[in-house]
Amino acid sequence: MSTYIVLLGPPGVGKGTQAKILAERTGLAHISSGDLFRENIKNQTELGLRAQTFINKGELVPDDITIGMIRERLSLPDCAAGAILDGFPRTPPQADALQALLAEFGGHVHRVPFITASEEVLVERLSGRWTCRAQGHVFHEKFNPPKQPGVCDLDGSELYQREDDKAETVQRRIRVYFEQTASLVSYYKEQGLLVEIDGAQPIEQVTEQLFAALK
Ligand code: ADP
Ligand code: ADP
Repeated sequence: MSTYIVLLGPPGVGKGTQAKILAERTGLAHISSGDLFRENIKNQTELGLRAQTFINKGELVPDDITIGMIRERLSLPDCAAGAILDGFPRTPPQADALQALLAEFGGHVHRVPFITASEEVLVERLSGRWTCRAQGHVFHEKFNPPKQPGVCDLDGSELYQREDDKAETVQRRIRVYFEQTASLVSYYKEQGLLVEIDGAQPIEQVTEQLFAALK
């Protein structure tokens, strides 16, 4: 049976950081909707061009575009054993679509770790986030600094600050999270899948709590 894990939580709480660690340790594929969009933008695909305007404003990309992209990604062979979903679903229609999609593949959502932190922590994490150009590895200038400033430890590529990590857009993204995504907490709670994780702890401790919750 394939194992699908959905990481839920506000922007900047550490979903991507934890998803990468989980994927490495479990061998499951890591699917980040944000990374997929950024890859499409970098390659100037039609999907990337459509998504870009929404992303730069800190708004959600429309459901039909997002669901189509995830459907395609989940159909690839490296997802046969399951996947860790980071940043998808973000709306109730996306959650319904995921359920239907996994049923098609003979699977279901196994568990939904809901990572939390105060708004103050989120803003501090997003404003100090540095992202790697080549593969989207993330660092933080204070909490998880690269060995050499501006250079990715893992692949040597340039680190940059995302356009949507600017203070003004960060506020908008947090608001959008509360308006459009936060209702998924009760959606998954009702299905008995939700486990709350304290995301305000250091990275290693969050990982420990996550593994305990997934056992
Ligand atoms: P998300 O994918 O939820 O937006 P990220 O994983 O990109 O979050 O993390 C946001 C920023 O916070 C990054 O700069 C990352 O290095 C840093 N970070 C992630 N988890 C923690 C943590 N537990 N403590 C301190 N900083 C963290
Ligand atoms: P963060 O790591 O800060 O949570 P992401 O990298 O996940 O941000 O997403 C960046 C942007 O990409 C979002 O602000 C949104 O515009 C778009 N996006 C990502 N995932 C989705 C999704 N599931 N639905 C709609 N838009 C999305």
